Amino acid sequence: MFGKSVVLLERHSVVGGLNSFYSQKGIKFDVGLHALTNYPSEKSGKSSPLLKLCRQLRIPIDSLKLHPQSHSRITFGTESLLFDNDFDFFLSQVEEKFPAEKDRFLSLLSQMEEFPAYSVDAKELSTREILREAIREPLLGEMLLCPTCYYGSARPNDIDFPTFVMLFDAIFRQGLSRPERGIRAILDPITRKLRELGVKRKMKCQVEAIVNNGSKASELKLGNGERLSADFVISTCGAVETQSLLKPTGSPEPPTEGRFSIMESIFVYEGQPGDLGWDETTLFFNDSETFHFDEPKGALDVRSGVICLPENYGPDVHAQGARSKLRITHPANFGHWAGLPQKDYEKEKASWEERVLANGLRYLSKEESQLEDFHAKIILRDTFTPRTIKKYTDHRNGALYGSPVKRRDGSTHLENLFLAGTDQGYVGIVGAMLGGIAIANNRILRPG
Ligand SMILES: Cc1cc2nc3c(=O)[nH]c(=O)nc-3n(C[C@H](O)[C@H](O)[C@H](O)COP(=O)(O)OP(=O)(O)OC[C@H]3O[C@@H](n4cnc5c(N)ncnc54)[C@H](O)[C@@H]3O)c2cc1C
Repeated sequence: MFGKSVVLLERHSVVGGLNSFYSQKGIKFDVGLHALTNYPSEKSGKSSPLLKLCRQLRIPIDSLKLHPQSHSRITFGTESLLFDNDFDFFLSQVEEKFPAEKDRFLSLLSQMEEFPAYSVDAKELSTREILREAIREPLLGEMLLCPTCYYGSARPNDIDFPTFVMLFDAIFRQGLSRPERGIRAILDPITRKLRELGVKRKMKCQVEAIVNNGSKASELKLGNGERLSADFVISTCGAVETQSLLKPTGSPEPPTEGRFSIMESIFVYEGQPGDLGWDETTLFFNDSETFHFDEPKGALDVRSGVICLPENYGPDVHAQGARSKLRITHPANFGHWAGLPQKDYEKEKASWEERVLANGLRYLSKEESQLEDFHAKIILRDTFTPRTIKKYTDHRNGALYGSPVKRRDGSTHLENLFLAGTDQGYVGIVGAMLGGIAIANNRILRPG
């Protein structure tokens, strides 16, 4: 849009990375879209980063046909907090369930408003420590950590405070929605725009090396044997992954590897979630009063997880007619899944699928008979593991949110190489797009 000549290099055959799409037996799946955060509601409207980035990318927000969530739930043991896209409702829930914390929670909100979370110099403080000081009932702090960690933490059992503040705004203050056509409603207009603007898009084209002299990147070596030179290089493949591409030598300060990964099972079933009495769009759960969010020692940790019911966005989002999807996500161990021979891998996936389903249904319904009834409705199942994430995105350790140490200004030790997206500290769908825009604007179009 601003007169630069741009080439986009992608190792996979489709765009989107962790936000991509695929189909199986004629059924379309989104890879990463559970919820689009930062819903531009009437209240949050003008300040919504989603609205701002759509304007910057010249994508009319109405073309996304956003359907707001019904409501979501955080359940820890026997305690639950509900939220929807009206922040006052969430405030009333906190007041009802934790009446003694009302004033302290409001002070925490003021502390968050004053914190420069969006600044490139934001200090990466521990949210757990801040919550411990701000709130007396530990359970409330644990419940606040759960959705924010699942939507973007690379740190075990914690989240850095700038990311917590950004995600708290994105999830609770602004809220969740889903485009009617899923992730393609976002990817299609972007790829169309790239075509119109003359951007060269090279798919199935892996960058194999970023050749540099220790201060500047001079050339990219591609998997197809081609060599490219450019004034600037923006890498979105991750800090650790970018470091491994630097030739002949990498950064003198190698980035820290992330280890948090997930397994997700998707069950396509006949009917609608409402038929089964399931009315939330997203359910964040934990089996006790202490939140578990870490790489498990075994294959999977089913003590906590996330359930998504995509058909519960808006009144009319029934893209597959009478079919719906139940998606259940848990922390998973990369080493375990990566090391299994193919036959055992498939067997273990199938056996965990069953355990995950039985466990998940306990949080959706109190009725014992539901598992059997639900089995009869299942049309198709699909499960992906940390090994799948590594295969399709090449993220080290199948890491979902990259390195626990972020580079908010996107800089690297090379003057013309920048990081954008997750390892810049901008997570999720909205974050990935905002991060790219910030780097293009601040580092290339208006440097300094
Ligand atoms: C199951 C799941 C559910 C999710 N749910 C949500 C959600 O509900 N809401 C939300 O906002 N976010 C969600 N996310 C997170 C979101 O998808 C990510 O935060 C976001 O995609 C990160 O974008 P990115 O551009 O930083 O990196 P990525 O999406 O990982 O993109 C990196 C790209 O680089 C390519 N690449 C890697 N190495 C090379 C190379 N050497 N040469 C060329 N190309 C290369 C990869 O193929 C990939 O396309 C979810 C993710 C998953 C997996």
